[in-house]
Amino acid sequence: MSTPRIGVLALQGAFREHILALRRLGADAVPLRSPEELDDLDGVVLPGGESTTMDKLLRKFGLQGPLRREIGEGMPVLATCAGLILLADTVLDGLPDQESLHVLPISVRRNAYGRQPESFEVDIDVDFLEEPFRGVFIRSPVIERADDSLEVHASVGGKVVMLGDGQVLGLTFHPELSGDDRIHEFWVTNYLPRWQSGRGSAAAEGVS
Ligand code: GLN
Repeated sequence: MSTPRIGVLALQGAFREHILALRRLGADAVPLRSPEELDDLDGVVLPGGESTTMDKLLRKFGLQGPLRREIGEGMPVLATCAGLILLADTVLDGLPDQESLHVLPISVRRNAYGRQPESFEVDIDVDFLEEPFRGVFIRSPVIERADDSLEVHASVGGKVVMLGDGQVLGLTFHPELSGDDRIHEFWVTNYLPRWQSGRGSAAAEGVS
């Protein structure tokens, strides 16, 4: 596989750490701030931060429609925390005017670890990792419903904290803040080649 080019949505939130993690893995990771920058990407990372702010900025920067379209056409996505809220088809406890991309069949409730401290860390057993992963949760959402088509990769206290469908890998915690690149590595390795080969054949068809 050639070096994948990954756009990390860089409107707000913890985007720098994702860029650094992906670069450590050899990917060409670049900040994503405009619709034009969506061209030529092999995947997109939607970071944690504040979903209400990111939603507003997505619309202000004209990215909401193009991003939804790209994802609808198969662009691989790694979405963490607020980034996962942006994808959900149902957002509970959002602001009245909060919008989402409606591309992932889940319901998420914002800031739903009510009685726990706003932020906490816990070792997570992830089905594709041999050793536990230190999960950093910061005012995280809770996934209250997930379609059966989604594969659950990890749960904490009976709540799903990571799921995926082969195109979108979604987490309610921050994998970029643990100094551990194994989840990014899994995504790069398992979620991007499919896109690469799909694009390759589409390009070949265009040539013929
Ligand atoms: N509470 C934030 C929101 O609703 C998400 C927090 C995070 O991304 N760490 O957008």
